[in-house]
Amino acid sequence: MAGGHLSKTVCIVGAGFGGLSAAINLRLKGFDVTMYESNATVGGRANIISRDGFTFDTGPSLVNYPWVFEELFAAAGKKLSDYVTLLPVDPTVQFRWRNGTHFHLSSDVKTLLSECERLEPGSGPSLMSFLRDAAGKYDVSFAKLVTRNEDNPLKWISKLNPREMWNSGVWHSLDSELARFFQNQYIREALGSYAMYLGGSPYELPGLFSILSYGEMAMGLWLPKGGVYGLVRGIEKLALELGVRIHTSTPVSEIIKIDSRATGVKLASGETASFDIVVSNVDRDIIADQPKAPRMTPGVVTFYWGVRNAAQKIGHHTIFLPDDNRGAFDQLSKRGIIPTDLPFYVSIPSATDPDLAPPGYSAVFVLVPTPVVSQLPEIAVDRIRSQVFERLTHHNLGLTQSDIIFEEVWTPLEWQRRFGLHDGSAFGAAHTLFQMGPFRAKNYSQRYDGLYYVGAGTTPGTGMPMVVLGGKMTAERIASRVH
Ligand SMILES: Cc1cc2nc3c(=O)[nH]c(=O)nc-3n(C[C@H](O)[C@H](O)[C@H](O)COP(=O)(O)OP(=O)(O)OC[C@H]3O[C@@H](n4cnc5c(N)ncnc54)[C@H](O)[C@@H]3O)c2cc1C
Repeated sequence: MAGGHLSKTVCIVGAGFGGLSAAINLRLKGFDVTMYESNATVGGRANIISRDGFTFDTGPSLVNYPWVFEELFAAAGKKLSDYVTLLPVDPTVQFRWRNGTHFHLSSDVKTLLSECERLEPGSGPSLMSFLRDAAGKYDVSFAKLVTRNEDNPLKWISKLNPREMWNSGVWHSLDSELARFFQNQYIREALGSYAMYLGGSPYELPGLFSILSYGEMAMGLWLPKGGVYGLVRGIEKLALELGVRIHTSTPVSEIIKIDSRATGVKLASGETASFDIVVSNVDRDIIADQPKAPRMTPGVVTFYWGVRNAAQKIGHHTIFLPDDNRGAFDQLSKRGIIPTDLPFYVSIPSATDPDLAPPGYSAVFVLVPTPVVSQLPEIAVDRIRSQVFERLTHHNLGLTQSDIIFEEVWTPLEWQRRFGLHDGSAFGAAHTLFQMGPFRAKNYSQRYDGLYYVGAGTTPGTGMPMVVLGGKMTAERIASRVH
């Protein structure tokens, strides 16, 4: 462990992926690290529900960019594979439309080519150009933009040469970017659907985000053995081995500030503890420190169903898209209402890891994007459930409501309450052009010395790999300022 900061104590409020990554990276720099987590288990949104032989991941279900997790372990001189087994998922994601059209993404180029050719004859060469172009965007973004602690927008962008800037795709929408390669509406809707998790629509978010679907195709999609929580367990184990102290079921009620400096925390028990540095992994804290609340990603209603059905016709990851894609995005992100024709996502992780459900049964996770709490405090869960089953029945997928043997449902209010999310937004601040890089909430407080941030609300952004990279950036930010 690198020395130098051994005498400095750091408290991290919240043990989500970002908090855990910050803890590991700070420990590797020699800081003395203590974490306080309000829930009984670490992982934050990436939590676990275990019931009657079924295991559900509460939030994230798609693991991509495995190199980010490999790097986290490698930084500590360890191997990810000694802690976590990653199972490949292929086909990666299946997309379905009501009229029977379907499209499968895959990390196998041959399968991808035949899928594209099936929907758009002659599009094989366009797919290859798309992959080459997105690979370029991806390489430049990660080498020059994503992981830099740069506050000055001009300095940030000036790392790109004029050609890289032109090719970055930030000058037009994701849908226009996709239209450079594909004429077919369905291919574009599928590859653009990732915009939902970034808090916008493919018709307005920057074309740079073609790197999301590219990342999945080029680097594969994975399921940790035991579910995504298997990855959380591995990272928690690494943190503990490095000497991070983790206190679960210990909510922090206040970050103590004296004059303009954070000096420690007050726990819900009334106890106080002093630290040289405080890092908050709590979305609400990050947003509350902003002069103006940013635009947020949507809320979600999530269903966890134990079902008496092997659900073999569905597959691991399926996204059901609406007939009027633009209209649904408009209703959700502009008008703040639940789309009339509901887009939703179904995950059946027991299709890849059978240990997640008893034989012949399935653990089914359904995610339905909704407006945030301030737009729609009460959600008509029964209506949403019926719409989901209407659609599953329409596609004749062999799963009916009567197969459910138990259900748990979390609404945006429940998500907000459990994890301290701002306005119940599931993925944190949106990734519009002016909420990225130096424009995004910073990973340090601009009001209080000694107070730092990590997680989906700050840089570089949302998603497990991003907040893990963010943990490293926050640790670097702290180390550069503390001597
Ligand atoms: C339904 C859903 C599906 C998703 N799907 C994917 C996906 O497939 N792939 C992907 O990469 N990402 C996905 N994401 C996004 C991903 O989950 C998040 O970006 C990431 O997990 C956020 O991590 P974080 O570091 O911001 O911490 P969080 O997960 O927000 O954790 C913060 C922690 O702080 C704790 N806390 C809050 N208040 C206090 C307090 N007062 N005292 C102590 N502790 C406190 C919370 O309990 C929590 O544990 C999904 C998110 C959701 C909600």
